[in-house]
Amino acid sequence: MNVRIISRDKNNLKFMLEDTGVAFANALRRIILAEVPTMTIDEVIIIENTSPLLDEILAHRLGLIPLKTDLENYTLPEECSCQGAGCTQCQLTFTLEREAEEEGVIVYSGELKYQDPLVVPVSDKIPIVRLARGQRIVLEAYASLGRGKDHAKYQPVSTCAYKYKPIVQLEGDKCEACGDCVEICPKGVLDLKNKSIMIKDVLNCSLCKACEEQCEFDAIHVDSDDSSFIFNIESSGAPPPEEIVERAIEIFSKKVKELKSLLASKKS
Ligand code: SF4
Ligand code: SF4
Ligand SMILES: [Zn+2]
Repeated sequence: MNVRIISRDKNNLKFMLEDTGVAFANALRRIILAEVPTMTIDEVIIIENTSPLLDEILAHRLGLIPLKTDLENYTLPEECSCQGAGCTQCQLTFTLEREAEEEGVIVYSGELKYQDPLVVPVSDKIPIVRLARGQRIVLEAYASLGRGKDHAKYQPVSTCAYKYKPIVQLEGDKCEACGDCVEICPKGVLDLKNKSIMIKDVLNCSLCKACEEQCEFDAIHVDSDDSSFIFNIESSGAPPPEEIVERAIEIFSKKVKELKSLLASKKS
């Protein structure tokens, strides 16, 4: 199997997996969504809340704030030996105290006071609640590692999708260079230059086959390579996208090893 990076930036990673099968690609996607842990607020103690939001709605909003996640220094609560509250290996605390001195004050994620500077909201500008003059909230929030299979708020990605590698072929002798396929393509894959059709960016093709249907001359054919997959990952900002994929592969390998040793023990 080969891996080729197509593009990447702070929160996005696009890469191609070659010489593999759909079972592997889908297992990787599912592990990314369901098994790579992130740190998220999971418990809130409301000390005072005169805001218009009910306590549980306030807690729910806090739980949906993505936190930068330090996977090296924290342990999943179910894997931690402490079995109790206040453990610094599996839990950390945020506090928030705010009273509005004027009308319409918005309390943002950046106002959460944190215990560990490596685990903070990915953005300071996520609105939590709007307060009228004199309204006040005081709370403590506890974050811990968790996985998407337990609750979607732990998913490390906002997008994790793959598609087969597209193959677009033109038959030059049949093509009349009418440009209809260029017009209809929603992804800008094709171009008409000097009275001939060019394939500009085949990886952008969504395999919709609109060009094939539009061509009266049967001059364009769209197919896919079912052993190559283009992955598109958008991190929520918790771990960076490369780390999400690395973790997913580690988890995958661990599962394969466990299965192997289970099979070996059944034989003996
Ligand atoms: S629609 Fe068919 S004939 Fe027209 S430019 Fe495209 S491939 Fe050529
Ligand atoms: S299959 Fe769809 S996206 Fe791909 S080249 Fe044809 S029209 Fe464009
Ligand atoms: Zn613990």
